[in-house]
Amino acid sequence: MNQGVNMQNRVLSSEINKLVGKTVTMCGWVHSRRDHGKLVFIDLRDRKGLTQVVFIPCSNAHKLAHELRTEYVLKIEGVINKRPEKMINNKIISGKVELEAKEMVILNTSDTPPFEINKDTVNVDEETRLKYRYLDLRTERMANNIRMRHKVIQFIREYLTNKEDFIEIQTPILSKSTPEGARDYLVPSRMHAGKFFALPQSPQQYKQLLMVAGFEKYFQIAPCFRDEDARGDRSPGEFYQLDLEMSFVEQNDILELIEKLYTSLVKTLFPNHKITTSPWPRLKYDDAMKKYNCDKPDLRKDKNDKKELAFCWIIDFPLFQKQTKDDFFHGAGNKMAPSHHMFTAPKKEDVKLLDTDPLKARSYQHDLVLNGVEIGGGSIRIHDPKIQEKVFDLIGFTPKQKAQFAHLLKAFEFGVPPHGGIAPGLDRFIRLLQGEDAIKEIIAFPLTGDVRDPLMDSPTEVSQKQLDEVHIEVKFKKTK
Ligand code: ASP
Repeated sequence: MNQGVNMQNRVLSSEINKLVGKTVTMCGWVHSRRDHGKLVFIDLRDRKGLTQVVFIPCSNAHKLAHELRTEYVLKIEGVINKRPEKMINNKIISGKVELEAKEMVILNTSDTPPFEINKDTVNVDEETRLKYRYLDLRTERMANNIRMRHKVIQFIREYLTNKEDFIEIQTPILSKSTPEGARDYLVPSRMHAGKFFALPQSPQQYKQLLMVAGFEKYFQIAPCFRDEDARGDRSPGEFYQLDLEMSFVEQNDILELIEKLYTSLVKTLFPNHKITTSPWPRLKYDDAMKKYNCDKPDLRKDKNDKKELAFCWIIDFPLFQKQTKDDFFHGAGNKMAPSHHMFTAPKKEDVKLLDTDPLKARSYQHDLVLNGVEIGGGSIRIHDPKIQEKVFDLIGFTPKQKAQFAHLLKAFEFGVPPHGGIAPGLDRFIRLLQGEDAIKEIIAFPLTGDVRDPLMDSPTEVSQKQLDEVHIEVKFKKTK
């Protein structure tokens, strides 16, 4: 193979419509080829799109042209020619021109891919797609999904930082179990035998501590880890959310910020989408249940229209719900579980109900719903340690369980500002924007439905030495 090839002056498919008559160097992959014997055509793919390359007999490049196969990696030097009017192809980015190859270096050959890269892979089986994800990501649809994901995240970062004075802060991944109601991923500690870190289900407690620390406006594109079975609208294992928290705000401030941010995002990045109703409807939980019999109604006029975006807020949730047998809090010994999480504040006028009829108390929880999918939730938080204690008692926490939150209650003794936030999920949101049916279509390296990675082949067994170091004895017998 050719190493150390000079790539100077390389141009991209997106640039060459303007370079008629120029001699240029282009690099990329063979997307498709049409060998007419004398004339050979290929579509060369780079990160911006396709370029038609023509090999004319007698050029040096033509001598190699018959050897080309799809996905070979090439460096081609040649001249940009204008296409005749009739041959203009508006489907490709460089469709007004073509490259007439003069010299060519085959930088690398390729085996025949397990599926066709110049077609959508939605119908290829999941195992094959994920095992060869790097090839799947070469397809136009997948590459576009990943690039749009980047743009959405970039937009959010830019907006919150430059327009709204937020700062992004990374919080620990090796953390302590955050009781968001799901099962934790545990990481054994080598230094502290028998003890475990937990991967964060969300940065909930850290972001509240950052409010105590005085940052006032925090966000993070935050990875969250929950050991739950796969669900239609959540990728198994891990997902990303726009985690956000603000001090000295009321619920309305949070709702308005997100509404402004997402409206601006849609207008800028998805100009062909239409937000059905602005301002977004705000429905009380009780009313939504009465009217739609669910707390995530699809308010689109045409339920099949993927370009229609019907956002709405659900507010005035009950603070508690009855505990069920499968509830995370079951075993805490009482009959109530938080509807959202245990840091959510009761509505001011309902605080007194905590002593008399707590199941009737409403909270400052807000859920963001888009086209019938819950895409985020948050709340104004409790900032009065006495109310926090009371909520713990109502859930039925034992003194030992309460002690798990001692750090938060302690922090709240040092001047905690009133605060609240939200954490819209990014995967679900981007999936809807991109009109994809499955969340894995907008994640570069997702896990399978049964929580494996066929590409890296994880999870795997580890060596006895590794296990010994972290003081773990595996009960399960190896299956060969
Ligand atoms: N931590 C919550 C969640 O992940 C969101 C929030 O209350 O801000 O659902």
